Amino acid sequence: MNLDLDFSYQSYEKLLKELIVKKYSNPLIGDVLSPKKLLYLRHDVDTDYIGVIPLATIEHSLGMKSTWYFLPDCPVYNICSNKIQLIIRQLADMGHQIGLHIDATQYENLEEMISFIESYYEFLSSFLPISRTLSFHKPADWLLNDVNIPNWVNAYQKEYYSEVIYVSDSNRREFWKEVRLYTAINENKSLTLLTHPLWWKEASLTSEELFEYTCKILGTNVVEAYLKETCKRYS
Ligand SMILES: [Zn+2]
Repeated sequence: MNLDLDFSYQSYEKLLKELIVKKYSNPLIGDVLSPKKLLYLRHDVDTDYIGVIPLATIEHSLGMKSTWYFLPDCPVYNICSNKIQLIIRQLADMGHQIGLHIDATQYENLEEMISFIESYYEFLSSFLPISRTLSFHKPADWLLNDVNIPNWVNAYQKEYYSEVIYVSDSNRREFWKEVRLYTAINENKSLTLLTHPLWWKEASLTSEELFEYTCKILGTNVVEAYLKETCKRYS
């Protein structure tokens, strides 16, 4: 089997429909279930919040649920702003789960990171429907190793990462051209699918078109500042 996909909403829908046909069950990250042919849908909202509702609506229309991780300290969007609050409430109304996307590079050590996570949760959960689940933004290798964050469900725990087939569109990877997805489907294995709304559009864009679009929608200054900060941190 091979799926002919691109980064369009239509392709995302086609992929989900294929997984429904293959009889995947679709729990949320954190649901306790017997481990059989599960499909965990996960999204990290790194920059582009515009694509969130379109993708979430496709999932909802197919009766599926996913977990959306928002950065509490994002340089591009403000999780406390009215527009992001509205998006988060719409997600919750559709039955999706909302968690925190944590950039561990901001902290000196694990203890400091956990303290910040708790502070963010205490504040944000007082007015937003946020669950005690988190994922890491551009995780260092040690964070992929089943790290236990007390009282939190970590999306990189083995149940959702190393014990399933993990497929992601990180760095705009065209994951449908890789064998992993088909291995999962053909061998009836559980699957975590991580997608970033930034890449997905009404019609699939080239990298140049995507950069232009994102600058236009989110504001050139904001995107430029984000890229500068990201390049500095990883250089
Ligand atoms: Zn991220």
